[in-house]
Amino acid sequence: MVAEQLLPNGVTDERVLEAMSTIPREEFLSGRLRRYAYENRALAIDCGQTISQPLVVALMTQALRPQPGDIALEIGTGSGYQAAVLSRLCSKVVTLEREPALAEHASETLMRLGFDNVEVAVADGSQGWPASAPYDIILVACAAPDLPAALVEELAPGGRLVIPLGHGEDDYQDLRIYQRHEGELSSRSLFAVRFVPLRTG
Ligand code: SAH
Repeated sequence: MVAEQLLPNGVTDERVLEAMSTIPREEFLSGRLRRYAYENRALAIDCGQTISQPLVVALMTQALRPQPGDIALEIGTGSGYQAAVLSRLCSKVVTLEREPALAEHASETLMRLGFDNVEVAVADGSQGWPASAPYDIILVACAAPDLPAALVEELAPGGRLVIPLGHGEDDYQDLRIYQRHEGELSSRSLFAVRFVPLRTG
């Protein structure tokens, strides 16, 4: 996966490559899909949701420039794989999931594999998670029409946030990265992605 999909496609961050070459992705999939764990495709998880393709996980993570002391927030735990990758690169990860069954399963997987700096909570991520704010990194793993205001409020000075932005009727979304410099927020487009929608409530 690292040699054939990540290295030839612009993943250069050594820490991201190291994390993704050692985390067993099959552990985040159900039995019959495990054989596809290292193929470059999104795969089904429970509740009609998907685990993103490895290249998208790698590029999103790299764009956030995670540092060892960073506190990260993820919206959309899904299988827990992306949270596992962040947990190797940051000091603490809070990940929010609105489907209780997914949150419970991901939490079990992460604990079993020893990712003990990850906190999984059942919540609507569009409201943020004030308890551990501010965050150096915010990764939104579901598509939203707009950047939720609560997440902007919880971004630390110098913090980075990635989010797929697009409307429900579009097939693809624009993956954007935002950075907070003192009071200002700058943003740029990274690439087109296809994520499941963020659902509020
Ligand atoms: N990062 C995951 C994949 C995310 S799929 C992984 O590595 O496997 C997107 C997830 O976002 C789904 O599990 C979906 O239930 C969740 N989701 C959608 N809207 C949400 C919201 N408002 N708050 C939290 N999670 C949400």
